[in-house]
Amino acid sequence: MSRHHIEKVTCPSCHHEGDFELWDSINTALDPEMKEKVLNKSIFLYTCPSCGETFRLNYPTLYH
Ligand SMILES: [Zn+2]
Repeated sequence: MSRHHIEKVTCPSCHHEGDFELWDSINTALDPEMKEKVLNKSIFLYTCPSCGETFRLNYPTLYH
């Protein structure tokens, strides 16, 4: 099973603090819908709920 947790991130554009879902481990065999999100990197993208700015967060994730 894929594991994830929520972390606080601060928008570099408007400094609004929001919740971001970080994936600790992704098992694409059990979560095939996650495979596409990894491939198109959308799991690393955060959209600020305040200003709508999208930016990329790089973090380590276990992909198997
Ligand atoms: Zn913002």
